[in-house]
Amino acid sequence: MSEFKKKLIMCIVFALSVGLISGCDNRIIKSNDSLYGGVDVALGYNGLISYRDDLLVYYDYTSGEATVFCSHPECEHEKFNAVTNPDPKCPAVSPKGYKILAAFMSENHLYMITEDNSANSMIVYRADANGENRKIIGVISAETILNGYLIYNNLLIFTGVEMAYKETDENLLGVAFSNILSTWIIDLETLDVVYKNPIKKIDYNIMYHANNNILYYIYHDNETETHEIKCVDLQTFSPLESISIPKYATNEYAYVVFYNESGYYLNKNQNEESVDVVKLNLIDHKHEIVLSELHIKGNATLFSVVGDYYFINSVYEDTASANNWQNYIYNSKDKQLYGVDMAYSGVETRFMSYFISPDGEHMIFITFPGMQAEYRYMRIDDFIAKSSKYVDLRISLK
Ligand SMILES: [Zn+2]
Repeated sequence: MSEFKKKLIMCIVFALSVGLISGCDNRIIKSNDSLYGGVDVALGYNGLISYRDDLLVYYDYTSGEATVFCSHPECEHEKFNAVTNPDPKCPAVSPKGYKILAAFMSENHLYMITEDNSANSMIVYRADANGENRKIIGVISAETILNGYLIYNNLLIFTGVEMAYKETDENLLGVAFSNILSTWIIDLETLDVVYKNPIKKIDYNIMYHANNNILYYIYHDNETETHEIKCVDLQTFSPLESISIPKYATNEYAYVVFYNESGYYLNKNQNEESVDVVKLNLIDHKHEIVLSELHIKGNATLFSVVGDYYFINSVYEDTASANNWQNYIYNSKDKQLYGVDMAYSGVETRFMSYFISPDGEHMIFITFPGMQAEYRYMRIDDFIAKSSKYVDLRISLK
């Protein structure tokens, strides 16, 4: 597989995992709560928390302003060093020097989860919203957090990885390691594990979506031919009836993305020259075509729905890699399909992803001005119109 394809797939997967939490549902909006966390940021309604380079920084979407979670005068936010700085006093750095795996806001507290020095253990810290008064509140008995996580009603929902080992004659070490993956739900008040369910095999990103106190996530198990959306009651933590994932084409299961109380996916028509957008009602499990015979060249994927907008990527296998892809936004309000130009602003955005919108109007997408991802906040309509009205949140340290 080419580097281009790998990166593209990675980004689409990234987008899938974020797009699904787009939009607010009926819960009371806690304006400072984080909604979704990824590899180095947690996204909220008004701004994001970055923990890239193991420093906690808040970025406001509308001003772009960065605020380090530290109010100590003249603090240099110096990181842990066993010799020169064995006991950092700065609340914005990892106190023992372990890598920060997650940092997010829930119910006016700042949480930070770091690695630990023992296997299957992550340290959980809780602090005031400004980062002060930080305390260890316990550990989570997993090795790490895979891909993205959700914050919902003071619950942390994530794919946890546990390291297991057994004796073997098959290698010189005499030990074989394996990863056990599960969907975890942790009550952030008590750190109790309120739900834990194994994931058979992972060769894709697990997508979590919460709406009206129900958790939805995509589950594939090729051995048992199980392809479904699992549903979990987030008040009793008991499983509800699963929803079967439909086929997109003969041998392919549909990519389902979520927005509020709906799932969306593409249905390929027999001649494969057009696609339908199908809306799945997550409450009554009914499927309904909301847009039929959309003519899009190549292999199309619906990778996010935000408000009235459907985001579609299409890849053609038959042309040179420089121009074998196209991104589209369909605006269901004015019934227009826009082929969007990702590079108009001068930033490399071929590998764009990350469509999230707290309000159904704005989006955040990833840009790649250098080797590392950066984040851009703007109105979807402005993006379609190639406007330069956007805020770049540059989270990499200079
Ligand atoms: Zn500091």
